[in-house]
Amino acid sequence: MKAEIIAVGTELLLGQVVNTNATFLSEELAVLGIEVYYHTVVGDNPVRLDELLTQAQDRSDLIVLCGGLGPTDDDLTKDTVAAHIHHSLIQDEQALEQLNDYFSFSKNKMTENNLRQTLMIEGGRAIQNPAGLAVGTLVTENDTTYLLLPGPPNELKPMFKKNARPLLEELFPQKEELLSRVLRFYGIGESQLVTELKELIDHQSNPTIAPYAKPNEVTLRLTAKVADHGEGELLLDQLEAKILSQVGDYFYGYGDENSLVEVTVEQLKKAGKTVSAAESLTAGLFQSTLGDVPGVSEVFKGGFVTYSEQTKEAFLGIDPILLEKEGVVSEFCAIAMAEQARILSGADFAVSFTGVAGPDELEGHPAGTVWIGLAEKGKPTIAELQHFTRDRRYIRRSAVMKGLDMVRRAVDK
Ligand code: ATP
Repeated sequence: MKAEIIAVGTELLLGQVVNTNATFLSEELAVLGIEVYYHTVVGDNPVRLDELLTQAQDRSDLIVLCGGLGPTDDDLTKDTVAAHIHHSLIQDEQALEQLNDYFSFSKNKMTENNLRQTLMIEGGRAIQNPAGLAVGTLVTENDTTYLLLPGPPNELKPMFKKNARPLLEELFPQKEELLSRVLRFYGIGESQLVTELKELIDHQSNPTIAPYAKPNEVTLRLTAKVADHGEGELLLDQLEAKILSQVGDYFYGYGDENSLVEVTVEQLKKAGKTVSAAESLTAGLFQSTLGDVPGVSEVFKGGFVTYSEQTKEAFLGIDPILLEKEGVVSEFCAIAMAEQARILSGADFAVSFTGVAGPDELEGHPAGTVWIGLAEKGKPTIAELQHFTRDRRYIRRSAVMKGLDMVRRAVDK
């Protein structure tokens, strides 16, 4: 079972858009046990797309195409595939109904070219689009199956998951299943993580271990290929236990989507605790990051942004004479900010950030020097000195991640 992905769109060739659809589709197909052998990108050009289809049909059982299903003249994927396999385009009634409903609800004027989006390839199965107007098609001709999906990722993803995946499972039933589990780590770099796990990585076979470095964190994807689901879960449990016995101190959660902030908020919720913050160099980024999580109001009531010495005194009541003496890039300042934020907000925890975002140095400290304080009800307030690298944006984001990790670890204790 060989598959390939063809992304159609001149904007991809020009480098204006990154081909994230191929990444998503490859991962999804791997889970179905369908191996992807080629990713290609072709512009909005029917001749070159047709040439590519000729190559692809000789080497692949499944060809997934994304992009070019829209209403405009350069959206030629459907016409080109239909012509290539000598099928015609027909109206899909459900898509037409959805289109009419959309225009009567939105009161926008429907232009004639919108109807193109409701056409599917005759002899295939329509793939309905829950997030847009262009219908897709799954069609088989001469032992090659073609799956046509739209370009926008916010349409392609739900369409694939909800409507295409079940059809592919039916069409290509697999004897073996691929089970994946993603482990997330903070506070350890990719190179250190793979060094610590060298033995396990060198001897991996089933499950496999794939490290992936993201800004400020590393993930490990464990993948087991098994005939039995229970057996797969057991293999993943065993491997996870071995990994965590070595690097468990840095592990914070599971999954592709669960970020450090979500895990921290979840832990605060479980513990019934609240958090506040006083931010200097991060200027509200920590609190804004918390605000991205739905339902955060249960654990976050508010905090302070104290960028200058004057607001550190005015909002938090920090002694200006001591501040002048110790400096703002100091343990004293971080501790005073965290303590005052906790007391004034009445939260169980408060984090503080004070330091140098750069590019210029401050008080003789280079960019990236950051003190992060943590105040906790009933415990002595602490502050950690960090030396972050790269640019201003990265330094501020790194500080926020570290602050979240400090809260998460404190709640966990
Ligand atoms: P539309 O109805 O929006 O025209 P379409 O199916 O015709 O949908 P395209 O016109 O090819 O899709 O692409 C629309 C947008 O979707 C692109 O401008 C781009 O932002 C995004 N897009 C297209 N292909 C990809 C891809 N392979 N990966 C990520 N994003 C993509």
